[in-house]
Amino acid sequence: MSSGAPRGNGQDVRLSRGSSLSDFADKINANPGSLVQEMFNLGEMVTATQSVSDDTLLLLGEHLGFNVVIVSPEDEDRELLAQFDIDLDAAVAEDRLVTRPPVVTVMGHVDHGKTKLLDAIRKTNVVAGEAGGITQHIGAYQVVVPHQGEDRAITFIDTPGHEAFTAMRARGAKVTDIVILVVAADDGVMPQTVEALNHAKAADVPIVVAVNKVDKPDANPDKVRQQLTDYGLLAEEYGGDTMFVNVAAKPGIGIDDLLEAVLLTADAALELTAPIDGPAQGVAVEAHLDKGRGAVATVLVQKGTLRAGDSIVAGGAHGRVRAMLDEHGNQVAEALPARPVLVLGLTSVPSAGDTFLAAEDDRTVRQIAEQRQARRRAATFANSGRRKSMEDIMREIEKGETTALTLIIKGDGSGSVEALEEALFKIEIPSEVELKVIHRGVGAITESDVNLASASSDQIATIIGFNVRASNKVKEMADRAGVEIRYYSVIYQAIEEIEAALKGLLKPEYEEVELGTAEIREVFRSSKIGLIAGCIVRSGLLKRNAKARIIRDGTVVADNVTISSLKRFKDDATEVREGFECGLTLSGYGSPQVGDTIETWEMREKPRA
Ligand code: GDP
Repeated sequence: MSSGAPRGNGQDVRLSRGSSLSDFADKINANPGSLVQEMFNLGEMVTATQSVSDDTLLLLGEHLGFNVVIVSPEDEDRELLAQFDIDLDAAVAEDRLVTRPPVVTVMGHVDHGKTKLLDAIRKTNVVAGEAGGITQHIGAYQVVVPHQGEDRAITFIDTPGHEAFTAMRARGAKVTDIVILVVAADDGVMPQTVEALNHAKAADVPIVVAVNKVDKPDANPDKVRQQLTDYGLLAEEYGGDTMFVNVAAKPGIGIDDLLEAVLLTADAALELTAPIDGPAQGVAVEAHLDKGRGAVATVLVQKGTLRAGDSIVAGGAHGRVRAMLDEHGNQVAEALPARPVLVLGLTSVPSAGDTFLAAEDDRTVRQIAEQRQARRRAATFANSGRRKSMEDIMREIEKGETTALTLIIKGDGSGSVEALEEALFKIEIPSEVELKVIHRGVGAITESDVNLASASSDQIATIIGFNVRASNKVKEMADRAGVEIRYYSVIYQAIEEIEAALKGLLKPEYEEVELGTAEIREVFRSSKIGLIAGCIVRSGLLKRNAKARIIRDGTVVADNVTISSLKRFKDDATEVREGFECGLTLSGYGSPQVGDTIETWEMREKPRA
């Protein structure tokens, strides 16, 4: 079937991820309808304006003889910035480099003391002599420690756990220079220890091991060293190149040594310099909506210098830096590389891991933000639907078959929302079930969330509130619309419950479970109830109303028979056990014989793995 779409000759067609057939048609001067037809011929039903997956674009390209090049979001962002004459690599003059502090993320198994350790480190920061000294959680903080006669700063990402780390990496942001792997000495290497280690290795980030809780009587720090050799981390004292430091975060023991180890590792393994002349570039590590202050974002400068009054764009958010605060709540006028600051003045909330940059003027940053938002919307659409073949769609229409759990995630910070979403998509679920997140955002659950939940086409969505709530009015509205709202404050709990829901969503699977067998000893006819089989139960038990099959000389002579009545002597019985005699009638089979075996079974719901 010819559809009139132009054929290519192997020419390159550059398409951004999440493009639609219309976008494709534009590039090759075709009628979008003709591409819809081509895709239909290839067995996929897509509309002209719908964002499609990379695979679909590549498939169609190959079919038409074009070499489709999917442009990655990073490349695309460079192209976008180029339209504004911004070249990230050249924007900051490289001739004046300064030494910058290392940026550290703390990872490890749950309950091994990550949070306590971050607290303990925060408290050691006495050298700086900061006024107030009370640090606020802004997503990152810096401490200054004396090291070989110098005061050296270290920046800590203040969200323990792996999710934040991976969410940032997934967005292409390389923030962390060093990972502190916390392992409790009384517990040893655990699954998330290994997971953390793998993340750090994948990111090619050096590791310092904090062997924590050495104050505990059952602590065995040497065992931790031993265990980690299996994962390629050999302690220095055993001739390897990983520093292991015994600490006890709770009483605050060994923290100085740990910081020392971080600096030694940084100096040995890393080149920590950054240029400072030029507009700032960096990453947003945390962002949320603050009641009084609007959108606030903690950004980590990586290059250049950020100053109050700069126009910045962070992901799809933009604005002018109205004020910058450090982790003590003090105003700062400028932030140099590796300095985390809380930025006020953005018009919306960026996502954790979004890169930011300062630009010439408000107009530029606004336009960049708008274009990024448009692109993200397209990309979200592309990711939200699994590619469905025409066959799939038809089968679904016929049977109403696939089950999906559709979610809206609202949370108190973009980091937590993303972390939750990422973790959810890691749940292993059977292929019959689909997990869809149709919206995610920061802030309280609103009417518009409920509207979206009830408007979603195939199924009412469930709203997840992570440390956020819905007002009474919104709650009522949700009740009326039949929208379920679930609140969580711990990621693990949310994941566990949603995992259970996903498994529960599956239509139950049944399996046949043998109940018992009986041998027919006697067959006699009752004028009232027909043929009665006198039996002895040979194994298990017989139950009234149970399904049965009749086996004669090893062959099934009747299947799908029901034990319709069951008696012990004169009395009705619901079940009769092995070794006992009974009389029974069978419905569905009219000629039982002496010597037949009755095998009974029951269908039971199979538990999901
Ligand atoms: P996280 O889940 O890794 O962030 O672990 P937490 O920092 O919340 O610590 C888990 C538990 O271990 C808490 O009850 C802490 O008080 C306790 N804990 C953490 N560090 C130490 C330590 O050095 N010694 C002792 N005895 N307990 C600790």
